[in-house]
Amino acid sequence: MIDKAEREIVRKIALLNALNYSGKAQFQPVLGKLLTEKPQLRPRIKELSPVIQQIVAEVNKLSLEEQKKIVENSWPEALVKTKVEVERTLPALPNVDKYERVVTRFAPNPDCMLHLGSARAIVLCDEYAKTYKGSFRLRLEDTDPRLKRSALPFYDAIPVDLKWLGCKWDMEIIQSDRLPAYYEYAEKLLASGGAYVCTCKSEHFRKLVTANKPCPCRDLPVAEHLTRWKYMLNGTYKEGEAVVRMKTDLSHPNPAVRDWPALRIINPKKYPHPRVGNKYRVWPIYNFSAGLDDHLMGVTHIIRGKEHLTNQTRQEYMYKHLGWKYPEAIHYGRMKIEGGLLSKSKIVEGVKKGAFTGWDDPRLATFIALRKRGILPETIRRLIIEVGPKTVDVTLSWENLYAINRKLLDPTANRYFFVRDPRKLKVTKIPETMTAQLALHPDNPKLGSRELKVEPQRGTADFWITTQDANLLKKGEVVRLMGLFNTRIEDAKAGIVAASFLSKSHEEARKLGAPLIHWLPAGTGIPCEVVMSDATVARGIAEDRCRELKPDNVVQFERFGFVRVDSINWKMTAYYAHR
Ligand SMILES: [Zn+2]
Repeated sequence: MIDKAEREIVRKIALLNALNYSGKAQFQPVLGKLLTEKPQLRPRIKELSPVIQQIVAEVNKLSLEEQKKIVENSWPEALVKTKVEVERTLPALPNVDKYERVVTRFAPNPDCMLHLGSARAIVLCDEYAKTYKGSFRLRLEDTDPRLKRSALPFYDAIPVDLKWLGCKWDMEIIQSDRLPAYYEYAEKLLASGGAYVCTCKSEHFRKLVTANKPCPCRDLPVAEHLTRWKYMLNGTYKEGEAVVRMKTDLSHPNPAVRDWPALRIINPKKYPHPRVGNKYRVWPIYNFSAGLDDHLMGVTHIIRGKEHLTNQTRQEYMYKHLGWKYPEAIHYGRMKIEGGLLSKSKIVEGVKKGAFTGWDDPRLATFIALRKRGILPETIRRLIIEVGPKTVDVTLSWENLYAINRKLLDPTANRYFFVRDPRKLKVTKIPETMTAQLALHPDNPKLGSRELKVEPQRGTADFWITTQDANLLKKGEVVRLMGLFNTRIEDAKAGIVAASFLSKSHEEARKLGAPLIHWLPAGTGIPCEVVMSDATVARGIAEDRCRELKPDNVVQFERFGFVRVDSINWKMTAYYAHR
């Protein structure tokens, strides 16, 4: 028997779950949470399930207001935490309690590097699997060696990107390994009359099907189709001469749904497969292989773009023939990024033709390029979770992405000086050796500071300042060298800017409204190149302390922006992230 205390725990979890999902608690997450909190209850799941179901039903009868009130009165401390969770959780998945556990999948074609355009599918599927303590699975769809030909490097690159994004999957399949399984189901469907081998010319077939008429092949005896199938496999039929079609409703309003093609012949000599060579000549078409695998991989929730809505309609016919139940399908709207190139074909073409420096060209929104620029995986996850699985189309801007990234980076990124396009500034009348103590982080003194020492020779010292700053200086103007002293410009026209020491006080600079500029003692620093987001290169000198940085460190060059360190040897190379 379940006791009163246990009942109360379930009620609390159910109420909190309801608050997270606009008043509707879900059985599966409530059970999951209960077992996380009280693992000793695991052996009693059978006994507990009906009670949990009952409590969830009771909680769901209450209004959101009533639920809130109960939690406020009984467990006020829990509410604080819930609020934080609410900000970051996704809307509930439908019909979760119908399944033992939630299984989602991401199914890319390994014909391109992954990019932001895939982020929604990846993050939503992985995040939902994690939320429901279910499984996320990976399927590489490489069954079109003719038009959507995969390439070997992407088979390795895709898992690297997914791991970087923080995804965890417990099953990984490659469709080109599964031809025997597809053949088995093709035969099964041919034998049961769910599919047939059509040898009509495609224009002829299209004409008939547009007029809601069956082609002459459709109603031939099963034995004839099985013979034809053998001819497809053994080479009697050549490419284009026969196709396996799924039987659907010929009166379906969408002609593209009617008797869709499931498998076809591809000349293995002309189009060898990058992984399995010319081993196979009959290849499944998208809806056949994807539809079968979703069921065979145990996928319970398909989360994908709404351009797949018709595919669901097509595949449901096959599921019916096989006596299977179609998984829950969630179709989200299109996601664009302003000024960002998310078209796979254009990216592939640009990389091939050399319009981009490679897959990691900073102008691309590939994950490898974003990673190189110091965009954090957490940024991408947060961005996608904010967008969620809405059906409306969304257009994001790079600024959305940068704002999240900046928020994540800012608390820990060290500050350094980087003088871009350096120009010399000669300051006279400096009374003594001076040292600037600059914090590595303005809000985090624990990170320590860096020192820049200026040792004047007969009162004179040379500095590097940026050409951009130098161009704005005017004779008689006072500027403050950040953290060091105030100086008055004597001559800004010549190649070397001449100035004289004025005072040390920051207060005085403030009173005079003197601009603050960053600088380096001439003769110090490490040559530095920053690859900008438009693939141009900013050249200059970074302060000596940067020599201790490591590749992948993300730092902020003051008055310039956040950069990710790519390499450090005699010079430093970095990639620009954003302001
Ligand atoms: Zn036909």
